[in-house]
Amino acid sequence: MPEIKRIDLMMPFKLGRVNCYLLKNDSDYILIDTGSSNQQAELEEALENEGCMPGNLKLIILTHGDFDHTGNVAYLSLKFGTQVAMHIDDSGMAEYGNMFFNRKEPNILIRKIIPVLSGFGKKERFRPDLMIEGGDDLSAYGFDAEVISIPGHSRGSIGILTANGDFFCGDLFENMDEPSLNSIMDESDTANASIEKLTRFKIKTVYPGHGKPFLIEQFNRSN
Ligand SMILES: [Zn+2]
Repeated sequence: MPEIKRIDLMMPFKLGRVNCYLLKNDSDYILIDTGSSNQQAELEEALENEGCMPGNLKLIILTHGDFDHTGNVAYLSLKFGTQVAMHIDDSGMAEYGNMFFNRKEPNILIRKIIPVLSGFGKKERFRPDLMIEGGDDLSAYGFDAEVISIPGHSRGSIGILTANGDFFCGDLFENMDEPSLNSIMDESDTANASIEKLTRFKIKTVYPGHGKPFLIEQFNRSN
């Protein structure tokens, strides 16, 4: 079973904190999400402390395309020579820096301001190497885990479920005061359908994009 290391990083403008998760299996690593670009040095240091370095980081997986999860991808993929996997429906966020790609669009001012404020500028943009979707598995990278499509927060949101029942859910759930649906949903009905779908899977522990990991029953109880 992979070891899981939670790396929690600050977001810009005191927006709170965001998680990346480093999975280790023997000497292979997978990084799920990368934080925002203002914490590049902190992320690098955390990876180094865990023994993750160029050559053993097998894959970077993005739960979705938001800047607070994808801010260090361009830098890391170059430095580590690691391929980047995400769902095609969020790839436009990464490629064009448009956080409203495939989402309900607010006015153009907000659209233009967000990449500037968030530190997701031209040099943070990237083109993913691999497009992944629900049903794919990570055995080719030495990890017994599968991808589950969980649209709602964004159309291309995915989760990663290990054979051990550890579920990395991106921004479907959060755990601020208590486990809950993430407060920012692009399509609420779709998010609820994603949660309904999860009952078909053997999930034990949820590792959210924001806040501490929690047991899945804790979410069920609080709702
Ligand atoms: Zn987020």
